[in-house]
Amino acid sequence: MKSSRTNLIIKMHQIVVNGIPIDVVRKAIKNLHLAVYPPEGRVRIATPLNVDDEAVRLFAISKMAWIKKNQAKYINQQRQPKRKYISGESHYFNGQRYILNVVHHTGNPKVSIKNKKYIELLVKPDYTQEQRENVLTNWYRKTLKEQIPALIEKWQRVIGVDGVQWEVKKMKTKWGTCNREAKRIWLNLELAKKPERCLEYIIVHEIIHILERNHTERFVAIMDKTMPQWREHKKELNQFPLAHEVWSY
Ligand SMILES: [Zn+2]
Repeated sequence: MKSSRTNLIIKMHQIVVNGIPIDVVRKAIKNLHLAVYPPEGRVRIATPLNVDDEAVRLFAISKMAWIKKNQAKYINQQRQPKRKYISGESHYFNGQRYILNVVHHTGNPKVSIKNKKYIELLVKPDYTQEQRENVLTNWYRKTLKEQIPALIEKWQRVIGVDGVQWEVKKMKTKWGTCNREAKRIWLNLELAKKPERCLEYIIVHEIIHILERNHTERFVAIMDKTMPQWREHKKELNQFPLAHEVWSY
């Protein structure tokens, strides 16, 4: 997702300091400005037009402890511990945190929400960690697939396209993708764990790609008109505890 404020940027390029890539943006400002952004701790330094890369490099070195501390903060924030799929673990569903409760039984595996607090996982006693994970993953997929059709229906009408096809799949680096020619969007299975408003935001974003391939000003204008609060949803999605991978889209 590119910034909609590219018109303000005079020039941007990247330098590497102590192995850390830093986006350097030159524009008509008075002072150097350093920032580290979620979700993956991207570093950006805005500089006045007359400050050269060597000065930026020295500035970055002087702030290296601060940069590393803030990058670590984001990286720790977004990594959940490895799951074992045993009772007592936290698992997210629809933006809520639940406690997993593994219950042994002899019938078919089953997942249900209990008392708005527990995800109950009914499995045979000899199920392995991988089998328990698969049962839960299939449940996430099933519930996400039940949520999607009404949202696609709603938003394709608002945006003014029809016949949008969709699929759910596990993706490592993207929340969603779009094939414009086929009018098909793919949604990340991880969205089952997020609040519905975040799922809606990704659906809207990908449907708009059918009209506009890139994140151009036109894209942002349609996005603003369709879902004025999309930036909040984006922020929420990027701040939520995530799986082990670093996500972008
Ligand atoms: Zn996009």
